[in-house]
Amino acid sequence: MRLLLVEDDKLLGDGVQAGLIQSGFNVDWVRDGVAAELALRTGEYAGVVLDLGLPRLSGLELLERLRRANNKVPVLILTARDRVEDRIKGLDSGADDYLVKPFDLHELAARLRALVRRSRGEATPTLRVGDIELDPAARSVTFRGRPVELSAREFALLQELMLNAGRVLSREQLAQRLYAWGEEIESNAIEVHVHHLRRKLAPELLRTVRGVGYLMPRETP
Ligand code: CA
Repeated sequence: MRLLLVEDDKLLGDGVQAGLIQSGFNVDWVRDGVAAELALRTGEYAGVVLDLGLPRLSGLELLERLRRANNKVPVLILTARDRVEDRIKGLDSGADDYLVKPFDLHELAARLRALVRRSRGEATPTLRVGDIELDPAARSVTFRGRPVELSAREFALLQELMLNAGRVLSREQLAQRLYAWGEEIESNAIEVHVHHLRRKLAPELLRTVRGVGYLMPRETP
């Protein structure tokens, strides 16, 4: 799941990015409001972690512009303890949640999972498609009741396919959600992960739609 982190503080940004990657998110990090606006216009994100005090364009202004443009991406704002009015303004401007600095990285990850889940209209944290169960918080998968060991990328790929069950996802869409900017990616990387998933689960669970991409049927055969 791809997130945009908007934070100008180098140390904090480094820590948050590393923590979120550890929690299984794919994170693009920008350091000012204008870069964030551009990233959100060109990329597809499951959620945004937004610092309010930013160079060039403040977090609040960015948030207001996003919502005016009818961009509904879930946004969690990061605020300082003494800035209660910022939190109120942020929520009133369309933020979905906030955390006060300093915060716990596990709590940030949990809140982001909840935000993304709510934004997709899912009631329960566990994803289920046919006989596959995926728990995003525990980062565990079972198939027909048995645990399945997956690499971080395989897990991320399976999660995207389950979240979009019944819809075709192109290789480009999947690559964008699984890899960060500038990250080395082999041209056949997605095919290789799909191959491994089919082997570890069952071949019929991931359909290839020739020339388009991949599809996980809503009801598994
Ligand atoms: Ca700042």
